[in-house]
Amino acid sequence: MKRIAVLGSTGSIGRQTLDVVRRLPDRLTVTALAAGSNAEALAHQALEFGALAASLVDEHGRHTLDAMLPRQTERTYGSDSLERIATRDDVDIVVVAVAGAIGTRATIAALCAGKDVALATKEVLVAAGEIVVSAAMMGEGRLLPIDSEHSGLLQCLEGRDPATVEKLWITASGGPLRTWTLDQMKSVTVADALNHPTWSMGNKITIDSATMMNKGLEMIEAHWLFGVAPEKIDCVVHPQSIVHAMVEFVDGSIVAQLGLPDMRLPIEYALLYPERVPAGLPRLSPTQIGTLTFEPPDEERFECLALARRAMTCGGTAPAVLNAANEVAVERFLGGTLSFLQIAAAIKGAMDAHESTPSPSLDQVLAADSWAREYVYRLKV
Ligand code: NDP
Ligand code: MG
Repeated sequence: MKRIAVLGSTGSIGRQTLDVVRRLPDRLTVTALAAGSNAEALAHQALEFGALAASLVDEHGRHTLDAMLPRQTERTYGSDSLERIATRDDVDIVVVAVAGAIGTRATIAALCAGKDVALATKEVLVAAGEIVVSAAMMGEGRLLPIDSEHSGLLQCLEGRDPATVEKLWITASGGPLRTWTLDQMKSVTVADALNHPTWSMGNKITIDSATMMNKGLEMIEAHWLFGVAPEKIDCVVHPQSIVHAMVEFVDGSIVAQLGLPDMRLPIEYALLYPERVPAGLPRLSPTQIGTLTFEPPDEERFECLALARRAMTCGGTAPAVLNAANEVAVERFLGGTLSFLQIAAAIKGAMDAHESTPSPSLDQVLAADSWAREYVYRLKV
């Protein structure tokens, strides 16, 4: 029986993680749950799964948890609550599914405490990839991807000699604006950008899919997870979201991973790794796949992809700046104070103004992150 802590349990990945646990009650059990501010949803989850601890970053939820949870359920609040949940003695695997680089300290703390980490929050690896990977190498815990493309890559790479890998390919749906012209993209509304064709996800990642920054972040995520050089990582637009990843080998053979666009499958794979068991999830039938298409991404219309490549090649604190600038730019787009195309412009401005520090410490990463947030918050347009 694996004992799980879920950071970000009330979000899209968090809720799907709990559905996987519900389907595999003799393999998985929930020990602790953490969320940002949604006290009521957190309390319902803690009651259903009999969690021993529930944690909220926002202290305002205290009354709700006090009213809804039995006295013996441990409750913690405040900004360090994620780390406390992630390092509990009674936890074997920590699912990190909070929205953004806010999950960085808790991820590192969990790995240093010897926990396995099932990571959905790609922003953590983008901001602090080198530090997170070395924490995983030094500790006893494993770093396992939940992101579907990286779960696909892991499955294609298993048992292979790294020297035989020519290239990692991740697929992109292309998002809701795949066929829009640059001129049309000047007037994208929040509703247009949130209208994702194949995946149902939280707001931030859905906007990242519309700008294609999601794929840029994922290329950097692949670089750190699999130790593959930036020039050997690429993406291809595949609107059906059936092929999630491909590995091209030195002899020219390409191995692909396929599945329905349903995050519960990569979540289950990470939670039970390396075992496979049937969890009753919807299955992809090869006879019903139909036509699969692939096209190159357009980095002129989707400038975020080019910016992410630049940050990945530069390394150091550049990806932390890219990520933090993007997090705030997306927030401002959702709040109506930046237009869609200004997201990339704001990130480019932050990157141009930043001098990257090579092999940064965690403090240097967090300082670069704060600087970039401030830069985009203050940007007048
Ligand atoms: P959601 O916005 O749906 O959920 C975010 C979760 O994080 C919620 O539980 C929220 O709590 C919590 N949270 C927000 N702010 C804080 C904070 N300051 N401290 C602690 N917890 C906080 O996001 P998703 O589930 O869509 O995405 C989560 C991560 O997974 C992202 O990094 C995303 O890129 C990645 N991912 C998501 C996929 C998907 O299909 N959704 C696919 C692949 C990767 P509350 O509800 O209380 O606000
Ligand atoms: Mg993905």
